[in-house]
Amino acid sequence: MLPNDGSRTNHALRASMRRFDDEEELDLVVVGCGAGGAVLTQRLARKGWKVAALEAGPFWEPDRDWVSDEAGSHPLYWTEPRVIGGGDPVPLGSNNSGRGVGGSTVHFAGYTPRLHPSDFQTYTADGVGADWPITYQELRPYYEALEAELPVAGQHWPWGDPHGYPHSPHPVSGLGMIFQRGCQRLGIDVRVGPVAITNGRFGNRPHCIYRGFCLQGCKVNAKASTLITHVPDALAHGAEIRSGSMVRSIEIDDRGRASGVVYFRDGVERRQRARAVAVAGYAIETPRLLLNSACRQFPDGVGNDHDLVGRYVMVQGAAQTAGRFPEEVRMYKAPPPEVSTEAFYETDPRADYRRGYSVQCIGPLPITWAEHVVAEGHWGHVLREYLCDYVHWATLGVLCEFLPLPGNRVTLDEERDRHGIPVARFDYTQCDNDRALMRAGSQKMAEILDAAGAQDTVTIARYAHLVGGARMGAGPETGVVDRNLRSFAVPNLYVTDGSVLPTQGAANPALTIMALAARCADHLAGGAASA
Ligand SMILES: Cc1cc2nc3c(=O)[nH]c(=O)nc-3n(C[C@H](O)[C@H](O)[C@H](O)COP(=O)(O)OP(=O)(O)OC[C@H]3O[C@@H](n4cnc5c(N)ncnc54)[C@H](O)[C@@H]3O)c2cc1C
Ligand code: SF4
Repeated sequence: MLPNDGSRTNHALRASMRRFDDEEELDLVVVGCGAGGAVLTQRLARKGWKVAALEAGPFWEPDRDWVSDEAGSHPLYWTEPRVIGGGDPVPLGSNNSGRGVGGSTVHFAGYTPRLHPSDFQTYTADGVGADWPITYQELRPYYEALEAELPVAGQHWPWGDPHGYPHSPHPVSGLGMIFQRGCQRLGIDVRVGPVAITNGRFGNRPHCIYRGFCLQGCKVNAKASTLITHVPDALAHGAEIRSGSMVRSIEIDDRGRASGVVYFRDGVERRQRARAVAVAGYAIETPRLLLNSACRQFPDGVGNDHDLVGRYVMVQGAAQTAGRFPEEVRMYKAPPPEVSTEAFYETDPRADYRRGYSVQCIGPLPITWAEHVVAEGHWGHVLREYLCDYVHWATLGVLCEFLPLPGNRVTLDEERDRHGIPVARFDYTQCDNDRALMRAGSQKMAEILDAAGAQDTVTIARYAHLVGGARMGAGPETGVVDRNLRSFAVPNLYVTDGSVLPTQGAANPALTIMALAARCADHLAGGAASA
């Protein structure tokens, strides 16, 4: 779908995009055009539905908007105001959500593992977390389809449900080799991939050039983001992507059905009518929108009859450990999450915690690397020395499966954004299991780097990835949406983003979010929304 005119944007496709009138009743209006929203929009456009995705942020043009500069990439993130609190507050902004067509996939690292079958029944198997109302087997065909569409490159994956990938693995960088060396010496199984990054030409997308700017937008389009994969296909099949459109509330009619959304565009309040509404604003903004949609039928927020909207929001414990090596490593020279291990993913009966963690390569660019050094308490001259030494450092990251807790929740704050909409407040506190996991994961990274020959190591505690807040459940007492992502309270309202995950595993979430959205599209195409 990409042009051959030397630019990275198909301007003709955008110029000829179908444009619906606010008064026209759509088959479906989608709020948010990221991982989940774009896949849903594309699938239903292909079914001939009249569908528009309303996206708060801009319609990015890689050539115009993206820069080869870490600090200059900040506009890619959701930098609108939010309030944080709790015992272990989660900084929001550059590390957790995006804003603009493509959503967070524009600046995600492209790492696309599947969840394990055990993730779908952690309560039954391990007595923690929650059981999903669907099984891994029900999601597997959607994982396979998306891995082919993105496409995903990687070695045969031995963990969870063992499987291969459509494209062969990328060559291993200096950082990846250090990780492999450490693991080999400790007897830890390790693999290359899976990443949604082209290993060879794919359509009009070129081969990855291994500059390591994946978190800054990938100017060459080698890394898949829905901006360059599913959005062009959606446009080609008659969808509208309406950027700069911040949805304030979902409208509910007298019959208790969703009838459209109220949104702001160019400073003007508008209404878009639709026969069904899907919310895909991610784990903070989706609960915020449901709560801000309080109305006569739902005085505490849409779908919040059981006080579940905004609860069970999760982040993964994502400590990073860096090791210093005598040779030049140049850890930025590759996609950041190139090599990884899921050998510690499942519950170890000997451990003092349930569930587990994965370990991945992380190749922070200099500013992010400076944050490591500052977190160690270094400043001024010493900080400068560390930064001059940047090319000798190798960084690993863990993803620890922190548990879903009801008190970790999004509520509405008194503060309002520039549209006058109450902003989200996110309170977060870790439990003992979370802390024990983070300790174990951090220790493992140091062991691996030591075994590889590190002369010195530094570790920082971090969080990554947001999910939950409108979770799937078997019934309205345990979930906001059902197994098909349909709201229990409003029959033609869907949630198709990361907020529906009941647990998060130790895997990066984007592929699972896309797979769930694709499954929901099949359900909708079967006639469900008109029921
Ligand atoms: C730095 C970084 C690296 C990451 N790396 C990885 C990785 O390697 N692998 C992985 O799997 N995951 C990764 N993630 C996480 C992943 O990108 C997200 O989990 C995923 O994109 C979430 O999908 P989503 O559909 O729920 O939301 P998003 O993709 O965030 O899309 C939500 C969209 O909704 C829009 N929106 C929100 N509210 C409104 C509203 N009221 N009106 C209109 N529009 C609205 C937002 O602007 C946004 O564009 C990373 C995230 C970050 C921040
Ligand atoms: S390393 Fe590859 S995928 Fe990442 S930004 Fe560079 S070209 Fe894109």
